[in-house]
Amino acid sequence: HETVYAIASGKGGVGKTTTTVNLGTALAEAGERVAIVDTDLGMANLAGFVSLTPDSTTLHDVLAGDASIDDATYRLADNIVAVPSGTNLDEYAETSPEGLRDAVEELRSQFDYVFLDVGAGISHETVLPLGLADAVILVSTPEPAAVHDTKKTIELTDRSGGSVAGLVLTRTHPDGDISHDDIADRLEVPLLGTIPEDPAARDSVYAGTPLVVFEPEGPAAIAYRRLATTVTGVE
Ligand code: ADP
Ligand code: MG
Repeated sequence: HETVYAIASGKGGVGKTTTTVNLGTALAEAGERVAIVDTDLGMANLAGFVSLTPDSTTLHDVLAGDASIDDATYRLADNIVAVPSGTNLDEYAETSPEGLRDAVEELRSQFDYVFLDVGAGISHETVLPLGLADAVILVSTPEPAAVHDTKKTIELTDRSGGSVAGLVLTRTHPDGDISHDDIADRLEVPLLGTIPEDPAARDSVYAGTPLVVFEPEGPAAIAYRRLATTVTGVE
């Protein structure tokens, strides 16, 4: 099966990190060995979602050639580890995204699933993971501006030799005026799932606990567990 997934979007703030953390945690709860990786090198914030202290060894150190990927790997719970990225801009300047390939291959050999939380936009560090991953999961809200930017991520994935698994629509509302199927059809990608707007998503970030653990029976948590099954086939 596909092991390495890039969680990507054109626009920022659409739910990539939330999706990375909760897809990963849902699969770990189902017994799979999972690594979640903050490859959003410039705007890293995955650590806060899972209560990790960001001032220890991070992916920045690995990409600067100063640490091994194992040194930057932290156990979160049974079956799941995180590789955080640093938040220091000087350290960021020292990193070379090219080293990401080796780091990802090392993780691939150790885990059943690896989820890369990719930065928004079209910079080199964003495009690189799209080609390294076995499949790209596109994340967007239903808003036209976000959907429009998703086209660019699809094009960048094609150009970097990657392949798109499909689209996840986040923060959806029951009476939204745009059909979710129509959005996916227009982008010519499969609709993998929809995650409803749920205040527990924000609360879980403040709590530093994945949503699927923080409020497991809430609508977004249920949707993330369903998405994990749709993407991987793991029940
Ligand atoms: P990205 O990584 O794409 O920048 P995040 O995962 O950080 O996006 O999410 C951006 C904001 O939206 C966060 O404050 C998060 O709590 C909130 N959010 C994400 N998904 C949902 C949801 N389903 N319902 C409500 N708020 C959400
Ligand atoms: Mg993010």
